[in-house]
Amino acid sequence: MTGGSFSRRGLMQGAAALGTAALFPRGLSAQQVARTASAPGAPLPARGELIIRGVTVLTMDPAVPDLAGGDVHVRDGAIVAVAPTIQAPAAQVIDGAGMICIPGFVDTHFHLWNALFRLFIRADVPAFGYFPVTARLGPLMEPEDSYRSVRLGAAEALAAGVTTVHNWSHNTRSPEHADAELSGMRDMGIRGRFAYGTPVGMADDAPMDFAGLARVKKDWIPDKDNLLTLGICSRNLGALTIGGSAAAASRGVLTIAQIKRDWDGARALGLPITMHTSGASPVTALEGAGLLGPDVQFVHPLLTTPEEREVPLTLKRLLQLATLDGAVDLGIADRTGSITPGKRADLVLLRTTDINTSPAGDPYEAIVSLGMPANVDTVIVDGRILRRAGKFTAFDHAKIVAEAREAAIGLRDKAKWPT
Ligand SMILES: [Zn+2]
Repeated sequence: MTGGSFSRRGLMQGAAALGTAALFPRGLSAQQVARTASAPGAPLPARGELIIRGVTVLTMDPAVPDLAGGDVHVRDGAIVAVAPTIQAPAAQVIDGAGMICIPGFVDTHFHLWNALFRLFIRADVPAFGYFPVTARLGPLMEPEDSYRSVRLGAAEALAAGVTTVHNWSHNTRSPEHADAELSGMRDMGIRGRFAYGTPVGMADDAPMDFAGLARVKKDWIPDKDNLLTLGICSRNLGALTIGGSAAAASRGVLTIAQIKRDWDGARALGLPITMHTSGASPVTALEGAGLLGPDVQFVHPLLTTPEEREVPLTLKRLLQLATLDGAVDLGIADRTGSITPGKRADLVLLRTTDINTSPAGDPYEAIVSLGMPANVDTVIVDGRILRRAGKFTAFDHAKIVAEAREAAIGLRDKAKWPT
């Protein structure tokens, strides 16, 4: 995807003009709803006691052996035990025959705010590539648009067995947009980190909104269920390689001093940092400025060397990277990422009776080489069964889609796009 056909000046002027909301009707204005920490959506399923019986268990925990057939016991949101046979007379029984139980996937990088636009984006038409579309429509988003986009993206994640998502919000247009995105995550019952960013098109020399960030942290963290954490997404040091320099530059091209200013502000609030590194590696410059630390996550390191990528990738290692290592990366491996007694119950059941995962053989092969979201039968987050038999238990799938569609079309109309 490339945005090379847009000049930065023209793009930014266009975004600024389109951001003048008075010029255009707001399709969602009549339906604006308070999306705040103190106003949760519909209740999520209760956490009870359940036992998954006779299931193949891939724990991802080196200290807890895999089981070819065994039971997983969950109570009050926590994993109680993993063993060949467990007695739990009061527990709801889930038959695990023909299934593999794994820890839920941990997606360490997902821009939930632009799930709305995915059908507008054309890989084969540069003017409608990812960067031009998001740079044009992103500045028009109201908090309710952000909420609906997050709900859609989170629904997609859950359906694919992702129980933790790092929501990388580099279009945090205001603290109210952050409230809306966090509300979307909370209302979907997904675990995750919200990375509070800056608006698309923000001036490079303007600092992050630390007052807004501090208010959002105060309101949301710690959250009641301890499912959500908070961090920041940093703008880039230098230009991105992907996306062309023009539209991608609307996400920020900062100096090391500007980066330090933003990172110091985040660290003063005790928040971790994530940064795109799709261009020339920033590591040496950041290290030279004394900015690196265990609280920094780099994304898209496209220009790493073969030596840096030298990791033996077995099937088991790949699954571990998608689960336990993601939890380590987000600093939440104490509570998720593996099927370990005492951790929270973030569990996924995948069918091995489907056409593409049957008839018999290695469970890692079934998941890593052959598995697809359609094979995800059951998704449990923090002990709540959010999906069963491939369907949401509590969410109105059609409503989430319809609301997202309304928001997407409303933004497209507001921009008088694509003309
Ligand atoms: Zn990204």
